[in-house]
Amino acid sequence: MIMEEMTMTEFEKGLEKTTTVIIPVGTVEEHGPHLPLSTDTIQAMDLAKRVSQRMDVFIAPPLHYGFCRSTRCHPGTIGVSAGALRAMIRDIVKSLYFHGLRCFVILSGHAGQIHIAALNEVGEELLEEIPDISIAILSGMDLFLDKEGLVETEGDSHAGEIETSMMLYMRPELVKGRASEEYPTLPRSILVRNKRKYWPGGVWGDPSKASREKGEKMINLAVDKVIDLIKKLESHREE
Ligand SMILES: [Zn+2]
Repeated sequence: MIMEEMTMTEFEKGLEKTTTVIIPVGTVEEHGPHLPLSTDTIQAMDLAKRVSQRMDVFIAPPLHYGFCRSTRCHPGTIGVSAGALRAMIRDIVKSLYFHGLRCFVILSGHAGQIHIAALNEVGEELLEEIPDISIAILSGMDLFLDKEGLVETEGDSHAGEIETSMMLYMRPELVKGRASEEYPTLPRSILVRNKRKYWPGGVWGDPSKASREKGEKMINLAVDKVIDLIKKLESHREE
């Protein structure tokens, strides 16, 4: 049940089937010279839609902006602060709760540490404030890096083998060739202003190893995992 395509009446009727909602969260962030800036949002939304084809669940319109740290100097990255991200999630969850939703799956296409920490922090706060809700926070990292022998590139994480494969499966028309293999050399523990100097191409991994077939397998595995998680979350709520 894709909320952005539903009417008020359909939404109200949908509540008779489920009170679970997936909130897809993405970023506007460089993904190398070959993948679109909204790669994370596209992945999260596409995955959520595939889940909704197999079970009754609401899919909220995606939050297109997230917190981006190491890519903030690259052209096209438009980040928001962790505070703004927390505030948006808080307001969206509260509004959905007002309308009857009780189980919340925050599905992030972006796996940056500060971004995920902000989602967890606001999730914990909401759990304390609202007694009858359940929340799960899930990042792309949890789903896609559990490779099950699929991924050849060690340490592949951003615009590399994994994300390029998934985009080749989901939106092949948006994949503009392949960037070269690259790994950032950002210094450990030292914060640097000009992050692009240490990571010129904005790729972390090896896009040349990507294929549509791998992307299809990754997405199917990820869909299964999200469905399992929702079932657990829903039964956890009933306890
Ligand atoms: Zn990404």
